[in-house]
Amino acid sequence: MTQTGPGNRVKIAIAGGGIIGLSIGRKLAQSGFQVSIFDQSVVGGEASWAGAGMLAPGGEVDEPSAVSALAIESRRMYGDFVRELEEASELPIDYQECGALEVAYSEDELCALEQRAERQERLGIHSKRITPGHVMTFWPRIRREGLAGGRFYPDDAIVNPRELTHALTLVCRKCSAAIYEHFRIEAIQVAEDEVILEDACGTQRFDAVVVAAGAWSNQIGVGGVPALPAAEPVRGHLIGYQQPEQTCNTIVRHGPTYLLQRGNGLLIAGSSAERVGFDRELNPFIEADLVSRAGFVMPHLEETAPSESWIGFRPASEELRLGSWHSPRLYLAYGHFRNGILLAPITAERIAAEISANSEML
Ligand SMILES: Cc1cc2nc3c(=O)[nH]c(=O)nc-3n(C[C@H](O)[C@H](O)[C@H](O)COP(=O)(O)OP(=O)(O)OC[C@H]3O[C@@H](n4cnc5c(N)ncnc54)[C@H](O)[C@@H]3O)c2cc1C
Repeated sequence: MTQTGPGNRVKIAIAGGGIIGLSIGRKLAQSGFQVSIFDQSVVGGEASWAGAGMLAPGGEVDEPSAVSALAIESRRMYGDFVRELEEASELPIDYQECGALEVAYSEDELCALEQRAERQERLGIHSKRITPGHVMTFWPRIRREGLAGGRFYPDDAIVNPRELTHALTLVCRKCSAAIYEHFRIEAIQVAEDEVILEDACGTQRFDAVVVAAGAWSNQIGVGGVPALPAAEPVRGHLIGYQQPEQTCNTIVRHGPTYLLQRGNGLLIAGSSAERVGFDRELNPFIEADLVSRAGFVMPHLEETAPSESWIGFRPASEELRLGSWHSPRLYLAYGHFRNGILLAPITAERIAAEISANSEML
């Protein structure tokens, strides 16, 4: 339909303006594509708003797999990703290369940590043993009773995903990407020479489309190609405490519990995982459990109530969907589950590279 070349650019639509859709949109717009991003709500308002913002292969990866390799690679890209966004948006982004402490409160827990660290070392994820004495000296807020030891992961980091998506939105606009909010894509018809997007009001034609609609991705109907692979929301609760700066200098993990503190003072504790569809109601029992788990790791939190609680829908799918779907005109970028903030840079790079490689056909 459209030839590549100056003044006659390939038109790409992106369904979904979370961190994934925005990161892809920015990369494509910078490469000269004519990008339109559609969001059924507001951009960056769903899982990408809710995410804690850990960039932590040390907490997530201990077996070799395609996704673990992507996670490690994406973590390496993050410093430059944030720096470029800060420069282009002229906005500061809270990004802390703070590392993560993982603590054990029994010999069994410690043994499990040591064994996992050995497996991780083979993947290039480094950590070092930490004694209870180290913890008491460098992490004085952490519970001492029963502490058996821990591991420190120097390469784990955190970012504030709300600041990141805000900067991404600005940069997309600066690169002339069009952003349409409250604009739900209902269906995509994939033809030989174009794709047709259907919304409630009519149709629009593009050269290619990327589905990056998180947990909602397979609600979009498709024609001309097989149905999209399933996506499922896995709800997660987080709680936040306003605390003095430096209350929690690194990520702290204990089993499924984690704590981290943003530059604005908000100390976040997580998390939970529930398969309850798109139910947005906060569950007080789950909040109470998080309060108790956070207070176990940092006893001073037992004396204070969280200042906020929120939920988000992690986009789960059988596997991470990253690439074309039965046509050079349709691309999938969903299923990032617990790691979409971490995986944003590598996702954008991979999808943009594949579309660029196929652009002769578009
Ligand atoms: C509690 C919690 C903690 C988390 N912590 C971390 C963490 O520490 N580190 C990490 O890396 N990841 C974390 N995650 C996961 C991470 O937040 C997600 O993987 C990531 O945000 C997914 O980004 P996305 O852009 O795919 O989805 P989303 O941010 O959900 O964006 C999808 C967008 O698509 C839009 N949309 C949906 N359907 C349509 C349609 N038909 N038409 C147009 N628009 C549509 C939605 O409105 C939405 O804005 C966490 C998630 C949760 C819930």
